[in-house]
Amino acid sequence: MGTGTAGTAEGGGRERPIVIVGASLGGAKAAEALRAAGHQGGIVLIGEEHERPYERPPLSKGYLLGTTPREKIYVHPPQWYGENDITLRLGTSVVAIDPAGHTVTLADDGQVAYAKLLLTTGSVPRRLPVPGEEQDGVLYLRRAEDSERIKAVLRPGARIAVIGAGWIGLEVAAAARAAGAEVTVLEAAELPLLRVLGREVAQVFADLHRDHGVDLRFGVQVTELTGTGGTVSGVRLGDGTTVAADAVVVGIGISPATGLAAAAGLEVDNGVKTDQHLRTSDPDVYAAGDAANAFHPLFGKHIRVEHWANAVNQPQTAARAMLGQPDAVYDRVPYFFSDQYDLGMEYVGYVEPGGYDRVVFRGDPATREFIALWLADGRVLAGMNVNVWDVTDPIRELIVSKRVVAADRLADPNVPFGDA
Ligand SMILES: Cc1cc2nc3c(=O)[nH]c(=O)nc-3n(C[C@H](O)[C@H](O)[C@H](O)COP(=O)(O)OP(=O)(O)OC[C@H]3O[C@@H](n4cnc5c(N)ncnc54)[C@H](O)[C@@H]3O)c2cc1C
Repeated sequence: MGTGTAGTAEGGGRERPIVIVGASLGGAKAAEALRAAGHQGGIVLIGEEHERPYERPPLSKGYLLGTTPREKIYVHPPQWYGENDITLRLGTSVVAIDPAGHTVTLADDGQVAYAKLLLTTGSVPRRLPVPGEEQDGVLYLRRAEDSERIKAVLRPGARIAVIGAGWIGLEVAAAARAAGAEVTVLEAAELPLLRVLGREVAQVFADLHRDHGVDLRFGVQVTELTGTGGTVSGVRLGDGTTVAADAVVVGIGISPATGLAAAAGLEVDNGVKTDQHLRTSDPDVYAAGDAANAFHPLFGKHIRVEHWANAVNQPQTAARAMLGQPDAVYDRVPYFFSDQYDLGMEYVGYVEPGGYDRVVFRGDPATREFIALWLADGRVLAGMNVNVWDVTDPIRELIVSKRVVAADRLADPNVPFGDA
């Protein structure tokens, strides 16, 4: 059973396949979900990277630390694609979409016809807009080879400057300290992760890194990367001082990869805009993962989520929607995790910067074994468990219920979340 009509480009004469652009976590999960949902027609998974789909979280954790071997990062074993009749085209960029003709154009000029198209094009690191950024030793982290380049400079005594105290910057700082490097983290805001976590919880991460010997500098502006002979040697700051560095790792956020969608006339606004079925402004084109700015029924607005769980789960909804199942709606509460030193955490929920009026702690944040809950108008918007496990489900239920809770009961470890 296919979903399409006869093809005109590659594969002419056969039913048109479902084509997925972006062969990473989201793309591979979509292919898996299509087969799980019973789709027997063609599936073509196209990706510009040369590696088969792999997971990125280890790139700033176990793979960077050297504790997770290469074979553990892949989404599926190599034979899985053949066994599931998925045409995997690696090292292949899609350069254009023709929504009217239902084709995508490849960099080598070939075309692939589609019945339905899924964009899982992900995101790309933001470049640091200062002079000297193009020098050797200035490193970004998105791909496996980026992680390998960073790993190569994390040596005992090496001076590593990390620009940006977001999740990537902090995880790299932790890996660099584990390797014995001297680490300076430079951040424009007053605390790490301030926009995501707010002041109360951001402080926990500042203390964590200071306790592990990281030189944290907040409220600084990077004006230039200095160097000699094309190799970086330091970071110049707005106050005229320079932080000497053997390598600079930049983690200042990502931008959704929307160029293809925009050029094809699809609606784009902070990602490829979709409805709750993950369908874009073209009825035969869908988007999922980091690239998608999807309408979320629980929050009543479009949100774009740059996390692993979203790239695992959204493709399942998109797959079912592409197969014509009208009840395929994406309404999961966002979830993510991080590991730094001996701190492991999970976060569930969604809070816009400054969008809460109170943080309730269950446990003492100074012990780094606690749960934080962000509230607005007495309702729980999000929760984060730090070195405490198996609480995500009840916290998620509180968020979804949108009911007003008693803050003192929420803080009491003897009261189940459901009774708070
Ligand atoms: C170092 C690192 C650590 C992370 N750690 C965590 C974590 O701890 N917890 C967490 O929740 N999340 C984490 N994330 C985020 C998580 O990895 C992403 O949310 C997830 O990878 C998104 O998957 P995706 O498939 O949507 O996009 P991506 O993983 O970005 O993949 C998109 C793919 O599409 C390809 N592509 C783009 N355009 C084209 C084109 N025109 N033609 C062909 N191919 C194209 C790209 O090359 C890429 O391979 C981390 C990310 C990074 C980089």
